[in-house]
Amino acid sequence: MASTISIRRGLDLKIAGRPAYKIVDAPRPARTALQPGDFRYFRPRLLVREGDAVKAGTPLLESKDDARVVLVSPASGTIEQIHRGERRKLLEIVVALAGEDAFEEFGALDDSDARALTREALVEKLLKGGAWSLIRRRPFACIANPDERPQSVLICATPQDAFDADPDLVLRGEEKDFQLGLDLAAKLTDGPVFLAVPANAVSPALTAATGVRTLRFSGPYPAGDPAVQIYHACPPKAKESVWYLRAQDLLALARFVRTGRVSPERVVALGGPAATERQLFRTRLGASAQSLTEGRCEPGELRLVSGSVMNGRKIPRTGFIGFYDTALFALKEGREREFLSFFRPGLDKYTVSSTCLSSFLGKAEYALDTNLQGSLRNFVQSGIYEDVCPVGIWPDQTAKAVMAGDIEEMEKHGILDCADCGLCTFVCPSKIEVGAILRRGIDLIRKEG
Ligand code: SF4
Repeated sequence: MASTISIRRGLDLKIAGRPAYKIVDAPRPARTALQPGDFRYFRPRLLVREGDAVKAGTPLLESKDDARVVLVSPASGTIEQIHRGERRKLLEIVVALAGEDAFEEFGALDDSDARALTREALVEKLLKGGAWSLIRRRPFACIANPDERPQSVLICATPQDAFDADPDLVLRGEEKDFQLGLDLAAKLTDGPVFLAVPANAVSPALTAATGVRTLRFSGPYPAGDPAVQIYHACPPKAKESVWYLRAQDLLALARFVRTGRVSPERVVALGGPAATERQLFRTRLGASAQSLTEGRCEPGELRLVSGSVMNGRKIPRTGFIGFYDTALFALKEGREREFLSFFRPGLDKYTVSSTCLSSFLGKAEYALDTNLQGSLRNFVQSGIYEDVCPVGIWPDQTAKAVMAGDIEEMEKHGILDCADCGLCTFVCPSKIEVGAILRRGIDLIRKEG
């Protein structure tokens, strides 16, 4: 029987632009890309050059820390460009798709052979085919270490926010592969496998799943985030880790084991106030944003966010959807300065701290743009962050410990539980990037070991 966990702290995002609850096929993208920045703490060694022909599944990068961990091409074609940034930091490897997909073969298995794999054989197969990168760990939200045994595994089958592709819809008709994925996940740990589903889930893949402890999650954003779910359901003990996969990643892992080929198919939601055709699109891993937004967004200067609107990554119109992302959010760049804005009542402004009169109107949704509605000011201790933080951190105290470089104090405040949800930054009346400060602290702890 499923238990229910209600997340009380968070924020009901009153942002316009939710996608319709239906899936349509997107046109085949001309390009896809692998972006090393999607993999936290991954130090890449490049294995290909511009102009090389690759198949779906050809290794493009290996980890400098563990050469067994490779990242593979999401498509077959030619390496069109290798983009580097400052200090030659590798930003993206762009693959131009060519004709029918050709795949690297890693050995197909029928269901019973797949279920009979030993843990060692499964880990070796996943590493070889690049499917290992689908598994992440908490703390640190990085690719799992193949030499570890996690305390438990959590499969996150909830949408990240109201603009995400809902696994309850995406998994319909995928019951067999999803159950195979759950059975394979159980091999990775000696502990339990938790399946986090929405409180109102109806898809048979989720409601009839076996061999797992099903947890029904309800609550405002970010109740659908695996980091928040792990904090409430199975927080890692000292020196332990909890591994997690999002539902579509587990599906891809199961298909890889069954077919012996990488499974690049993904369902991505296009939403946000500046999207004119909002729905879920069946596309592929790392697809170009253009293949989804062309003709489906308002003209003019837009900001595209790959992933959640609160903590996703800003990408250009010519950019690519992130490896773990199943949402693309479009909003207008707000560059105009409002004349005497300080004296206006703000009837059309989204406010969390009741600074504007709009808080008395009870408006359901606001068409946000990127305008911050204010500028950077001195920090004010008001308790507003604690009211929304879903993992019981005091973000202001923790941020002070980060600024002082005091690791012991950071850990005492529970910084490693931070879900990186972005809410403390969003609600900050002083426009301080509180979440980014905390992320710096987590990076420091990771670096210091
Ligand atoms: S500290 Fe900020 S970013 Fe971290 S979980 Fe709390 S609200 Fe989210």
